[in-house]
Amino acid sequence: MKNPAKKRAPATGHEALILAAVTAKSRAYSPYSRFRVGAALKTKSGHVFAGCNVENRSYGLTICAERNAVAQAIAHGESELECIAIASDASPPAPPCGACREVLAEFARDLPIVLVGSNPGEIFEHRLADLLPERFVFEPPDRPKRSKK
Ligand SMILES: [Zn+2]
Repeated sequence: MKNPAKKRAPATGHEALILAAVTAKSRAYSPYSRFRVGAALKTKSGHVFAGCNVENRSYGLTICAERNAVAQAIAHGESELECIAIASDASPPAPPCGACREVLAEFARDLPIVLVGSNPGEIFEHRLADLLPERFVFEPPDRPKRSKK
């Protein structure tokens, strides 16, 4: 996609997921950047797993809200992802970083992504395949192939 901003559209029907992302954002530990992010990940079973960014004074050990939410889902035995909402203090809304796009693509190649900005009504929906058109692909020879998602 040449200009992702032109493809985004207002998201609808994700109110509960958005509220969970905004709540997670309020719990962010971001004393260094003061940039709060919350993510709420809905799985196909209907459960919602939330995560926030957790910074570290070494910076490199900081974990993003999106990967935190994925880890929560996996830790609860759920890897079938349906949708993620990401709320940040940014305007326009901040899309997931490259690392988080790769981690999300591990489980859902074309995951719907709802971005929530700092201004009221600033809500846009993207598809992961648009934000990450060429994901990293590697299948270890002794590992069973995953189904395409
Ligand atoms: Zn990230």
